Amino acid sequence: MFGETVDRVRRRIGRRLAEEHPAEGDVVLAVPDSSNSIALGYSEASGIRYELGLIRNHYVGRTFIQPQQAGRDSSVRIKFNPVREILAGRRVVLVDDSIVRGTTSRKLVRMLRRNGATEVHFRVGSPPVTYPCFYGIDTPSRRELIGALKSPEEIREYLGADSLGYLSLEGLHACERDGSQYCDACFSGTYPIAIDPGASKLQIENLHRGRLAGL
Ligand code: SF4
Repeated sequence: MFGETVDRVRRRIGRRLAEEHPAEGDVVLAVPDSSNSIALGYSEASGIRYELGLIRNHYVGRTFIQPQQAGRDSSVRIKFNPVREILAGRRVVLVDDSIVRGTTSRKLVRMLRRNGATEVHFRVGSPPVTYPCFYGIDTPSRRELIGALKSPEEIREYLGADSLGYLSLEGLHACERDGSQYCDACFSGTYPIAIDPGASKLQIENLHRGRLAGL
């Protein structure tokens, strides 16, 4: 995309994340699949071994876009299979690309502990998601975004992690080849195409669809 492979950019994100938020861990795990390259980058920079400690079931859909909380909860349990042989007795650095509601992340931390992880250090390859996306990604309204509701320390506590580190916005842009051209509205609240703060997410999306249809 934009002249670079997504894998290269994600690896840089992982390396930068390791510099900004080092962790004392025995293994680095990805929340598969979108975080695999970020976790590999974290592993390369930190020297902590990358392991496949979570296996994803590819026959279950994305969890954060499911409207009902019950659906999301049960999906997490069948979507990820922990590998006990890798987790037992280990200090785990768990790498994800983002935290939206926090529901999946919290369940994953519990799952790792239940399967023997002695510590769980959560690392996120993006800043906190604090604003909804009106451009196509189905993130929820602000009142459902944990990054908009709680401080990082409160989020760490909610997740039940031993530590939590988010990549800085500056760090994220430093990983792009030409950072200034990319949207970062869901992290910064600076929307490159104006939105009406009084309108609902659906109203604004429909407005943009109408504009695009008229081009
Ligand atoms: S960066 Fe922009 S386009 Fe991408 S998810 Fe965030 S708000 Fe949406």
